[in-house]
Amino acid sequence: MCGIVAVSGTSEASKLAFLGLHSLQHRGQEAAGIVAFDAATGSCFRVREAGLVSDVFTAARLAELPGEVALGHIRYSTAGGSGLNNAQPIRVAYREGQLALVHNGNLTNANELRTRLVNEGALFQSTIDTEVIVHLIARSHRHGVEAQIDDALSQLVGAFSVLITVGDTLYAARDPWGYRPLVIGHIPGGGIVIASETCALDIVGARFVRDVEPGEVLRVKGTELTRLRPLPPEGMPQPCIFELVYFARPDTALWGYSVDRARRACGRRLADEQPADADIVIAVPDSANSAALGYSEQSGIAYELGLIRNHYVGRTFIEPSQAGRDFKVRLKYNAVREVLAGKRVVVVDDSLVRGTTSRGLVNLLRDAGAAEVHFRLASPPVRHPCYYGIDMPTKEELIAANMTVEQIRAYLGVDSLGYLSLEGMLDCVSDAGSFCTACFSGDYRAPLVDRDAGFAMSSHC
Ligand code: AMP
Repeated sequence: MCGIVAVSGTSEASKLAFLGLHSLQHRGQEAAGIVAFDAATGSCFRVREAGLVSDVFTAARLAELPGEVALGHIRYSTAGGSGLNNAQPIRVAYREGQLALVHNGNLTNANELRTRLVNEGALFQSTIDTEVIVHLIARSHRHGVEAQIDDALSQLVGAFSVLITVGDTLYAARDPWGYRPLVIGHIPGGGIVIASETCALDIVGARFVRDVEPGEVLRVKGTELTRLRPLPPEGMPQPCIFELVYFARPDTALWGYSVDRARRACGRRLADEQPADADIVIAVPDSANSAALGYSEQSGIAYELGLIRNHYVGRTFIEPSQAGRDFKVRLKYNAVREVLAGKRVVVVDDSLVRGTTSRGLVNLLRDAGAAEVHFRLASPPVRHPCYYGIDMPTKEELIAANMTVEQIRAYLGVDSLGYLSLEGMLDCVSDAGSFCTACFSGDYRAPLVDRDAGFAMSSHC
């Protein structure tokens, strides 16, 4: 998961990178960091801390980051490995200048590369897969920055959208499959912004120019963009469909496709494929709001706000000893009794992963007096872990990998359960081309090098 942003060609680079990160906060809440390079003094400063973007960056801290080029990263919390050393941007003094790098995605050969580099004498400072990219650049025998970056990126397998600065030159690249998004925007007053999602362009008033293409490597000097030698192609690009299903913000456009429109279309298709005799449709907020609206539009069943989400749930909470069942779910959601009492309710969620949140939600709805609960998922059963950068548990923890739909229905305690079909989902986004559907289908296109070689797969973003 994680979000990345870079700004070039404006003296407000770090401020704009901060704003971009703020709008990408949904992609990670564990840590935030910005590096800025100031050509006037040759300084390259970094601020990197655990916490939300608005907590990490005060006006005073941003003033410590002068320069016309800045890179930013927000980190998603993964189990383990959450020390500050694992937060990005990575910044090193390299033979060709000060180098900083941010990465979104998951390399599937990171441990193989790391083992080779360690055997050659490399000293690692973190446990993130991203650090191998820096070592590969620094240890390349090729001549010049661009040849060294090309050498490094050509050795990577898996998912990577990366932004690199060497001095005041910015480089942007996307893996040949194009798993994770990366978009380019033009700031009207002067400046270029490159970020994970278009919502990070909107906040700085930038105009969307285009996506960084799968396999494309770009150099940005000031506001001038140059295409460098692309990475070797790997067949049909495979952007991650789960970005559209759950991860990206609905006000973002991904691969030319509005996330809101894609989710609504899935909701409408879900209503056709999995109808329900019910009085109201509600969403599990916020990620399923658009899909539930689509379900309501298509079925003619009224859309209601039956669940309210508290957005201010921090990372750690003191659990009272009398907390009772479903405390974690109750911290985040509450049911609106007046909306639900006596009603036959269709609940639309974007996806079912472990089933634990959903089970708690169903208890909330029953306690609030719902007469019937019909659970609908705007995506197919998640049966396979993701190795390309979405935090998905192991197969053992994925409920749909271990139970039939009827068993899941009984486990959740609902009157009916229905998933959107894979064909139905793909039909809804067919204009946007082909997608990686590995978490639903098990069709892993980028080789799982570490897994096949018996290494642990890293679960960092
Ligand atoms: P559960 O009931 O435990 O299966 O959780 C399903 C909920 O988690 C859904 O509401 C999704 O919006 C959300 N979700 C889906 N994928 C992820 C993910 N990779 N990380 C965190 N939450 C997710």
